[in-house]
Amino acid sequence: MSNANVQANLSNLARYQNNFLKEVEANVEEGHMVKMCMQCGVCAGSCPFGPDWEHSPQKIFMMIRAGKRDEVLGSDSMFMCTSCYNCIVRCPRQLPITHIMHGLANYAHRIGMAPKGQPTRQFATLFWNNLVKKGRVNELTLTLGHYFTNGLVSGIKTALGMQSIGLGLFMAKRLNPMEIFGGHGVKDLKGFHAIVAKAKEIEDRKKGFTA
Ligand code: SF4
Ligand code: SF4
Repeated sequence: MSNANVQANLSNLARYQNNFLKEVEANVEEGHMVKMCMQCGVCAGSCPFGPDWEHSPQKIFMMIRAGKRDEVLGSDSMFMCTSCYNCIVRCPRQLPITHIMHGLANYAHRIGMAPKGQPTRQFATLFWNNLVKKGRVNELTLTLGHYFTNGLVSGIKTALGMQSIGLGLFMAKRLNPMEIFGGHGVKDLKGFHAIVAKAKEIEDRKKGFTA
């Protein structure tokens, strides 16, 4: 074999050394199970998103093994999973598919590779930040935050469109306009924040998360 051929083979080999699978195994919840997938396609056929989904779990697992890091971590698909568990109960290899999909979404979000403007991600972030502030969800500021996520004009239009529902909630004493000034929270806010910080520390340690 000529030197040129040897060099070409070595460079091909380098391309296919899959560090991304190792990265997933180290950082993603249940990521060590990805290599067990036998590509039967049962999960893709069972998922309610069906053909509308750009990357089914089967495809995502194949892409991880092929080293397609940017495509996987930039995919919208993990955020579309509704946790219906159809795939888990049918997978012949018993992969915890739902957990892996959410784990990948979480990892992509944490290292800043998740698609910007992805609605599920946006709402989950909004919800979490709202909850953590005072230990209770402030429904009024959460709703307004959601309406105005895509800018002032779109927010005003949505709020006007929902005004009859808002009025109904107010009349039924289910909405307190004074909550806009911060609302009420848990009694021991400092303790609550300490619990959240500790939970995050344990989660990071469990996942071996270093990024
Ligand atoms: S059902 Fe299980 S083994 Fe089959 S493709 Fe999906 S994850 Fe892989
Ligand atoms: S749990 Fe998620 S990935 Fe699995 S079938 Fe349901 S929506 Fe699809």
